[in-house]
Amino acid sequence: MARYTGPVCRLCRREGQKLFLKGDKCYTDKCPMNSRNFVPGQHGQGRKKVTEYGMQLREKQKVKRFYGISETQMRKYFELSDKKKGITGENLLTHLEMRLDNVVYRMGFASSRAESRQLVTHGHFRVNGKKVDIPSYICSNGDVIEVKEKSKSNGKFKVVLENSGNTVNWVNVDQENMKGTIVADPTREDIDIPIEEHLIVELYSK
Ligand code: SF4
Repeated sequence: MARYTGPVCRLCRREGQKLFLKGDKCYTDKCPMNSRNFVPGQHGQGRKKVTEYGMQLREKQKVKRFYGISETQMRKYFELSDKKKGITGENLLTHLEMRLDNVVYRMGFASSRAESRQLVTHGHFRVNGKKVDIPSYICSNGDVIEVKEKSKSNGKFKVVLENSGNTVNWVNVDQENMKGTIVADPTREDIDIPIEEHLIVELYSK
């Protein structure tokens, strides 16, 4: 399925919670979730009853939207997570956290995952010294991600990094050199949106 290119705030309203898809705007009063926190559409305010399947579906959609991935990618991550040792739902979230676009966002080089994805695609980053322009590239513990030398003079990175409140404890960021290192595997506690991942596992296991 093609990537969704419509109004992203609508996605938060559909899921009934902030998914932080718009960067700085998400932290201001302009966020529509403050004034219109109901499902969009003609019958949005009338929908009440949710079935078990509906709950599982919503949880999956929420995660897809949060990370900006397609259904095909989501299913692929699920299959990989299912084969891995440990709890499938947690493995799934760890895989998603380790995507290069998410790591770049978590390190504070971009104000949203959408922006991060665009910066990666435009070739602004190196992973362990090599140019990587694939947002879905899966990083590993110990990887060093840095802004390409030529792009470091771009004032944008400096401003975003200075204002960044997104860094997490599994990355170390050297703001001056615009470089970050993954120092641990992200744990379930590091994932900051309320997701009941077991519902996604139940959905895909049917
Ligand atoms: Fe969601 Fe951000 Fe839009 Fe608020 S501003 S509705 S958090 S994308």
